[in-house]
Amino acid sequence: MLTRLDDKVALVTGGARGIGREISLELARLGTKLAVNYRSSSAEAESLVEEIKQIGSECQIIQADVSKKDQARGLVQQVLDHYGQLDILVNNAGITKDKTLKKLTDDDWEDVINTNLNSVYYTVSAALPNMLERQHGRIINISSFVGQAGNFGQSNYAASKGGIIAFTKSAAQEVAKNNITINAIAPGFTETDMLSQVPENIREQILSKIPMRRFGKPNEIARAVVFLAADGDYITGQQINVNGGVYM
Ligand code: NAD
Repeated sequence: MLTRLDDKVALVTGGARGIGREISLELARLGTKLAVNYRSSSAEAESLVEEIKQIGSECQIIQADVSKKDQARGLVQQVLDHYGQLDILVNNAGITKDKTLKKLTDDDWEDVINTNLNSVYYTVSAALPNMLERQHGRIINISSFVGQAGNFGQSNYAASKGGIIAFTKSAAQEVAKNNITINAIAPGFTETDMLSQVPENIREQILSKIPMRRFGKPNEIARAVVFLAADGDYITGQQINVNGGVYM
């Protein structure tokens, strides 16, 4: 059984749907007080609050676009203003804008890098002072196996997710002595809205390349995240693959 997190506060970016929603729910089940960020899914965020209340935990929802530095840093500040502390930061928000390099525009590049990678720098740099003061922190960044292996038509996404892994390893070295761990989770293909954008025939091709012959479930990613938050005290700077074997 995982260690309870009753006195802990967690922020999950993009936490209202998909993998982020499952992470929020799993953290709530361990007693964490939550701040759930959403960009535009307000109905999903409202329904999540109700679900979390039924679990018996507290949840604040905060609208912010984490690709914008002021909003991302303001998001962390709102959590600190509300709860007075931040123990667990899960950088989950992410987008894809898949195109081959021939067709990729500057906007496609910048939107994905700003949302997936720069947001991680913004929130981590905003959260660290409080974590350093309290000599405690668990930061979990959601990367992707695409950041490790690369993928056709995903140069922007792969760069953002590979960047997260490199950032994680570097930042983890700087704060390890302060009892702050920073790790990356690298999911494989997982059944969410992001995967449903992929055409059916391509999904079939993908399945044939996954050794476990099935897509991951959002909760399977969430359980790895909460393990790091609750019991990963001596794990830092790692990339944990939850991918059905698609990249080993
Ligand atoms: P999703 O599209 O269901 O969820 C993404 C979440 O990020 C949404 O809640 C969305 O509102 C939020 N978001 C996007 N841009 C934002 C912004 N600028 N500010 C705030 N929130 C923003 O997709 P998902 O599959 O649940 O993705 C969650 C994470 O997992 C992403 O980082 C994604 O790259 C990663 N991932 C997903 C898969 C997969 O196959 N689904 C595989 C590997 C990694």
